[in-house]
Amino acid sequence: MKGALIGCGFFARNQLHAWAEVPGAEIVALCDRDPARLDETARAFGISRTYADADEMLVREDLDFVDIATTVDSHRPLVELAARSGVHVICQKPIAPTMADARAMVAAVAESGKVMMVHENFRWQSPIRRAVEAVRAGAIGTPFFGRISFRSGYDVFSGQPYLAEGERFIIEDLGIHILDISRALFGDVTRLTATTRRVNPRIRGEDVATMLLSHDSGVTSVVDCSYATRRSPETFPETLLEIDGTEGTLRLDAGYRLTIQRGDDAQVEDVAPPLLPWAERPWHNIQESVRTIQRHFADCIAAGTEPETSGADNLKTFALVEAAYLSASEGRSVALDEI
Ligand code: NAD
Repeated sequence: MKGALIGCGFFARNQLHAWAEVPGAEIVALCDRDPARLDETARAFGISRTYADADEMLVREDLDFVDIATTVDSHRPLVELAARSGVHVICQKPIAPTMADARAMVAAVAESGKVMMVHENFRWQSPIRRAVEAVRAGAIGTPFFGRISFRSGYDVFSGQPYLAEGERFIIEDLGIHILDISRALFGDVTRLTATTRRVNPRIRGEDVATMLLSHDSGVTSVVDCSYATRRSPETFPETLLEIDGTEGTLRLDAGYRLTIQRGDDAQVEDVAPPLLPWAERPWHNIQESVRTIQRHFADCIAAGTEPETSGADNLKTFALVEAAYLSASEGRSVALDEI
């Protein structure tokens, strides 16, 4: 499969390194409207076909897919361009600025008959995947409670300055991943209540969010996120889990320590992700998941199946983001069918 990457920014390097390790896929062209970034990325990855304009690239190149790694405002026009051009598409999270945009994008690709996946990679982190598979396999019986927690004081703003500028911050940027992990573990959600706070005075959006979710499955989960938590050890970018089931409990603690307890028997496992040759701590957990999700995309295209984190699936995760902001702003619980 021949692909092109659009958006050569902060995160795209991970995607390019990972594509080099995806069997059957190759990035043959790059696009960025910033010439310096385009040039630097082209040199670093030895990709000579470069474009400032995505429309021109789609006309000139013979592609099977595009990988969109730009920030949110450009996602809809670029996904619609991919749909018009008849190529498969991966789009970075958050899928869109609004639910209406997100629905239109998923519909456009569906009409084209091609596959759309959202780069929703946190549920593909190997420690999280291990927990998801254990819960799905019934290791702790039927789950009834979950806490999915991401609390950190890590400076994300130096690498991604735009995160300090938006009216929305932690739910849209990070909470979206943690909400998606909750869906991966416990299924779809009927009702959500959220509170938010801004602790850091130098940013515009909220940096703390606490969300209570009622799942169709009967599970209640708490999804809590903070970028205002200074503690030791600093756990960025680990998501910690506490899950209670009818037969036992599962915990994913700091340092990638997984404990599955059934009756009096507790199995403790080190589920630390590998440090890939091109990765660096502490990002290696996220970096490995980028390779995994991109391999999943290539496998799904080859097999003619729908990715687990397809555009259609991601509408349900994005709806949780919208529900959380609505709940926090109106101070009430929100039913998902309102979104
Ligand atoms: P960035 O601003 O560093 O890079 C974006 C690049 O896209 C820039 O170089 C910009 O010039 C280019 N661009 C924007 N619009 C374009 C267009 N229409 N045509 C061509 N080029 C265009 O942003 P980033 O931090 O790399 O984030 C990109 C996306 O990745 C965001 O949506 C962000 O939320 C997401 N992200 C995901 C993860 C993850 O773990 N999944 C982690 C970090 C960032």
